[in-house]
Amino acid sequence: MEKIKQQKLLLASVLGLIGFTINLFPLPLFANIQLVLGNASYVISAILFGPWYALYTASIAITGLFISWGSPHVYLIFSIEALCLGLARRKEFYSLYSSIAFWIAIGMPLFYLYATFYSNLPDSHLPFIILKQAINGVLYTAIGSFLVILTPSYWLFQPKGKGLRRQTFSAQLTYVFTLVITLALLLAALLFNNQFIKRQQDLLSQNINESALHISNLAQAYIDTHSLALNSAASWLSLNKRDAEQQQIALSNLHQHYPGFITMLIANETGKIQEASPVSLFIETDNLKNLDVSDRDYFIEAFINQNPYISPVFLGRGFGKDPIVAISVPLYAPGNTYQPIGIIEGSLDLNRFKEIDRTNKLFRDQYIVIADQQNRIIFSSPELAIQPLSDFNYSEDNALDSTLLPTMNIHDKANTAPEYVYAANELDTGWTLYVLNPFRPLVVLVEKMYLATFAILALSLIVTFIITRIISARLTRPLERIANKFSTSIANDNNDYGIDDDSPKEIYSLYTRLKQSKSQLIGYQLALEEKVALRTFELEQANQQLKSLAEKDPLTGLFNRRYAEEQFPLVQENCQRSDDVIAIAILDLDKFKRVNDTYGHLSGDLTLKAVARLLEDDFQRDGDIIVRFGGEEFLVIMPHCNTLKIESHLENFKQRLAKIVIENPDNNASFTVTTSIGAVIGNGTYNDALEDWIKQADFNLYQAKNNGRNKLVFTTLQET
Ligand code: GH3
Ligand code: MG
Ligand code: MG
Repeated sequence: MEKIKQQKLLLASVLGLIGFTINLFPLPLFANIQLVLGNASYVISAILFGPWYALYTASIAITGLFISWGSPHVYLIFSIEALCLGLARRKEFYSLYSSIAFWIAIGMPLFYLYATFYSNLPDSHLPFIILKQAINGVLYTAIGSFLVILTPSYWLFQPKGKGLRRQTFSAQLTYVFTLVITLALLLAALLFNNQFIKRQQDLLSQNINESALHISNLAQAYIDTHSLALNSAASWLSLNKRDAEQQQIALSNLHQHYPGFITMLIANETGKIQEASPVSLFIETDNLKNLDVSDRDYFIEAFINQNPYISPVFLGRGFGKDPIVAISVPLYAPGNTYQPIGIIEGSLDLNRFKEIDRTNKLFRDQYIVIADQQNRIIFSSPELAIQPLSDFNYSEDNALDSTLLPTMNIHDKANTAPEYVYAANELDTGWTLYVLNPFRPLVVLVEKMYLATFAILALSLIVTFIITRIISARLTRPLERIANKFSTSIANDNNDYGIDDDSPKEIYSLYTRLKQSKSQLIGYQLALEEKVALRTFELEQANQQLKSLAEKDPLTGLFNRRYAEEQFPLVQENCQRSDDVIAIAILDLDKFKRVNDTYGHLSGDLTLKAVARLLEDDFQRDGDIIVRFGGEEFLVIMPHCNTLKIESHLENFKQRLAKIVIENPDNNASFTVTTSIGAVIGNGTYNDALEDWIKQADFNLYQAKNNGRNKLVFTTLQET
């Protein structure tokens, strides 16, 4: 016992450590969905060793999960699970069923409470995450149970003892089927869903990268076109010296050709605006002519550094209040390309990006963000509700996330659930274009897939349940029928066992063999019964013979003295009760020695037989007992006899005997015999000992002999 306890503790520890190691690295599936498999360790512990060992194993295994997740709730939920599985196992419930029951009744509600009060999981994710946790629980329980079934040594730890429920074949079959189906379906679903999700992400990635490239090209082309236009205009303006009016006309013409500019201006070497387009701005804006742009980047870069320049985004000043991007190019005096005399500038219409964004959205559910060199928003899709000019802030790839794509959160940066998947592309201008795809639809898609999988699983479990019951019934029902039929008696054997033709082959062959052996058995039984009957009959015969041997005289066939002594008490008692009389007569053949001597012993025997027949013929009443008392002596007991007639009856007999001629054909002898008779009659109450009666009769016989033989002496017994 002690040794088994140690063994259990050791195994529970090893299981715990294995679970711990596996749980350190939960299998990432998608987004923050992870697969926990290490918990199968305490499922095994629960099945093999019961609740307390399960709790012990769980405490080790869960620690691995705690380290990787950092959330203490795992201790609560999974410890209770381990305990429940162990307790249910003790009651002989199958673990898979217990697990499903646990998650529905305890696990999911508990997880919901925890998630609502103690975690920052987004509400939209919650039902799915809880369901996923439950399915995960069922999966590792199925794995644990399956491993146990595959381990033969598991029988070592089978709970022994009284009160164990014997499971029906149907229940066992259903459980194994359910287990296999659960395992197969869940693993297949995980595998295929994962493939699907990966493919979906690849598609999405391809999609946004294409968009990013395409939109970058459009944006770049837009900028390049306008940049080139300004460059050409600057070269052209630098060719000849023109007066202010001519310059204004040239600028207005240029602006007409490039409506992508909101405004255009020409500033002199001091940064004062010389010409502007549209001209109406001069009229609307006071002192625009003297407006100084020398402090603007676009002036400094173009004029001082003598470079064509594209500015970061800034807020327009003087004319227009929109955020703008300026493109500026230095102007030179004709023939002097060293010292600029001013700049030409155009403010780019950022609404063009709105158009690009809108067109893109016709085909794709995507948003655009364009940030400048300083990471300030030049343009963003209005749906994103980001302020232009503001810094573009976002948090990237959250830790718990296993998405294959780069993700970002713009609005709720702390959330572990990503908001967008994105692709970024840097333009020649140093700007960055982001194409954003909302992440949620992908999650919803995945959730739908998993929900569909789980629905299929639930459905298949129900179908499995029903089908296995039907299948097992096909086996067990005929078996039960056979068992019932065979247990009934042979008498009502009608050879119909109700076995359908479509019963399984094995059952059918079992049935036919049983039937054969039953009919064989019946054959044996009949033969045996016959034999027994015969033997009994023979035995009875032998008994009969033995009895008659014991009670009868072989020569005459009359009863012997023993029989008389045996019967007399019954007769006497009977007569005593009915206050009736008994007569007793002793007959002794006269001079019988001489018969033997004269006619031979055989003639003597013939005589004895003849006397016996005559006695039987003369004393036929029911109660009369005729006995060969010895040698040539006979005894006749006559209960309930007629007192008045008995003496004459005896006398008659004596005379009848004397007349009978006995013939022996062997020696042609022919002779007669006589007999002397000593008889008494008395009340049944006289005496219960036959000897006493005989003594009196013998006395009378003696008298008869003395009186000359062939005499009857008859007396009545007086009670003293
Ligand atoms: P009594 O008139 O005085 O009776 O003379 P008894 O000769 O009959 O008397 P006893 O007792 O001397 O002789 C009896 C004879 O009966 C002797 C024996 O040979 C004969 N006996 C007894 N039993 C049998 C028997 O079974 N068969 C034959 N053949 N003779 C028998
Ligand atoms: Mg005699
Ligand atoms: Mg005699």
